[in-house]
Amino acid sequence: MVATVLSVALVPLLAAATGGPDDVGYKIKPADSNLWSQRFRGGRLIGGGGCPRRCISFTFDDGPSWDTTPALLETLDSHGIHATFFVTGHRIDGDGEVARRNRAVLATEWRHGHLVGNHTYNHDLLDTMTEPTLRYELDRTETLIHGVIGERVWLFRAPFGALHHPRAVRAVFSREYTPVFWALDSEDWRVHTPEAVLANVRAELDRAPRGGVLLMHDTLPWSIAAFPLILDEIAARNAAFIARGEEPYEVVGLERFYEPLRAAPVRRRRR
Ligand SMILES: [Zn+2]
Repeated sequence: MVATVLSVALVPLLAAATGGPDDVGYKIKPADSNLWSQRFRGGRLIGGGGCPRRCISFTFDDGPSWDTTPALLETLDSHGIHATFFVTGHRIDGDGEVARRNRAVLATEWRHGHLVGNHTYNHDLLDTMTEPTLRYELDRTETLIHGVIGERVWLFRAPFGALHHPRAVRAVFSREYTPVFWALDSEDWRVHTPEAVLANVRAELDRAPRGGVLLMHDTLPWSIAAFPLILDEIAARNAAFIARGEEPYEVVGLERFYEPLRAAPVRRRRR
């Protein structure tokens, strides 16, 4: 059911190259990704590669950011695409106006059917943290996200993609998070223009043509501006693939990469 809906997301992508999303008349069903969210509990590490067929899954880290994220949400909505947002706790904490606005953006992400994950509170290196700090970074963020969307999230992304120290690894898995890494890196934090982000993503798609999980940051204005260009690039590549009789990229959610940590118990047939 979920897979069917997400696979339809390809259609608006192709339409974007020709007539624009309005011509498709396709609207997302907000509830689908939200329902999937509860099934990420306690999964294997998602490395982000290994699409059996060409696929791309969009992930945006470090937000929510009231001044940059909303434009991205509009682009995602207009193309009928679901993404995953890895949220930092410090942005949605407190009584200040900025935190209040950021919480409203997070609520919108969730309401529009995007997946949400924990990206720690302060965005520091997990591998050097003590037990109490790890607890604060993970649990405080979890509580804050829960306060906005009304449920616990099970997806986790380590700041800088660094998760090596046994204490940090244990902290993540003991809370039954599914850690998510990436196969394609936009390196959008290294550059300052949309064109440069697009060039990075092009190079990544050339390097890893089957695609995978793409890392971007919804706190960077040039990355938000690059996103429609990236969709155009994917649509153009898809048009070329289809013309050659090859499979196009399918835009998928992280559920495509999910595997339970423990194998499901084998059901014995009663005699
Ligand atoms: Zn980050």
